[in-house]
Amino acid sequence: MPYTQVLHIPTRGHTDVLDLTPQVEAIVAASGIHDGVVVVFVPGSTAAITTMEYEPGCVADFQRLMETLAPEDGDYAHNTRWGDGNGYAHLRASLVGPSLSIPLVQGRLALGTWQQIVLADFDNRPRQRRILVQVLGD
Ligand code: ZN
Repeated sequence: MPYTQVLHIPTRGHTDVLDLTPQVEAIVAASGIHDGVVVVFVPGSTAAITTMEYEPGCVADFQRLMETLAPEDGDYAHNTRWGDGNGYAHLRASLVGPSLSIPLVQGRLALGTWQQIVLADFDNRPRQRRILVQVLGD
C-alpha cells in the first residue's frame, strides 16, 4: 500500500528555494518501504519541485535564470485578467513542474551526492505550502 505524508512548509515567496531532502528521507524511513519510487508533489500553480545542488551560488543562479525567463515585473495577460500580479510565478511554475519521482533502491533515494530535492515558491507573497510525499513499493 502507498505510504503518504504531507509536509507543511512556510515560504517567503519570490522564488524562495528550500531543501526538502531531509524531510523526504525521514518520510521514506517511516514508511518501512525499501524498494520502489517516491513521488514529491506540490499542489498549486505558483510553486514547483525540482532538484539542484543546494548551495547559495546555485540558488542565486536559479533565481537569476527565472528572472531572465519570466521577469517579475513583465507584462502578463494573467495580471490584466486577475490583478494578482503573479503572472510570472504561474509561468515559472509551469516550466519547472509540480512534481518529481525518485527511485528508491534498498532503502535509499537514488539521488546524486550533490543533488537535493527542492521546493521553489515563485508567488509574490509568503505562503504556507503543502507538499505531498508518497512512497510506493515494498
Ligand atoms: Zn495568479
